[in-house]
Amino acid sequence: MGKWKAIIGSVLVLCAYAGPAMAQARATPFYGDAGEPAQQPILEVIKGTQLAERMAAVVNTSLTLRSDLHVGFRSCKVANAFFNPQAREITICLEFIQLVAKTAAEDNYYLMKLPREEFSRYVDGAVWSVFLHELGHAVIAINQVPVTGREEDVADQFAVWFAVRFVTDAQKRVVEPGVWFWNRLAQTRDPSTFSTEERKRFMANEHSLDEQRVYNQACWAYGTGTEAGYRVAQRAGLPRERMQRCDQEWSKLNTAMTANFRPQFRVLPLSGRW
Ligand SMILES: [Zn+2]
Repeated sequence: MGKWKAIIGSVLVLCAYAGPAMAQARATPFYGDAGEPAQQPILEVIKGTQLAERMAAVVNTSLTLRSDLHVGFRSCKVANAFFNPQAREITICLEFIQLVAKTAAEDNYYLMKLPREEFSRYVDGAVWSVFLHELGHAVIAINQVPVTGREEDVADQFAVWFAVRFVTDAQKRVVEPGVWFWNRLAQTRDPSTFSTEERKRFMANEHSLDEQRVYNQACWAYGTGTEAGYRVAQRAGLPRERMQRCDQEWSKLNTAMTANFRPQFRVLPLSGRW
């Protein structure tokens, strides 16, 4: 229990947005049931830190949605996080939180050597990173934002772009932990050992491959030209050839995301202008 408190209990307070929420449609938090006794203390800690409330508050203060959205945590029997367009619900499964915490606990080379506070920040940041990805799906679906190409990549772009443009110290707090998590996960899955059927399912999946997602996000972070972005790229092992083009990639991404998503925002970015 103490460990869970340390892991989840580090409160990532995203930047405070100005202005009251005026829109009719609102994001509302929810907490479902734990699927097994081991998840109960995790759920209690998440409730105690009001994580769903804080996630809903980020939506309500920053975005104008055309319909209500539910944001919360429950057991799904699978380690996943997803947006359900029918229910208009972002669900972060308790199994997913367990996976992030387990991944962190097994990272003996880096994470476990960090001070406790830093360790908690990583776990917390990885969860926020995934939430922002799902929020990207939600905004696209609810406000009918046009996207071409792979929506999963756009959701990754949204997560990094939202963090960089709307969250103070974004790379350190959200992007770096997100990249860390996908990087660690990528190392646990070796496509060269897959059976023909497994490979088929893996390649046909809507998501880019884990490693591609890691390099993409690291590249965008690096492309912002900050020291924190450089550190993310270094941690991800982003090849030099890709690094050379990341500033242009980030610039184009920022222009396109701003054009497509600006109408959905009720606040200005941290820079104070679009
Ligand atoms: Zn997705």
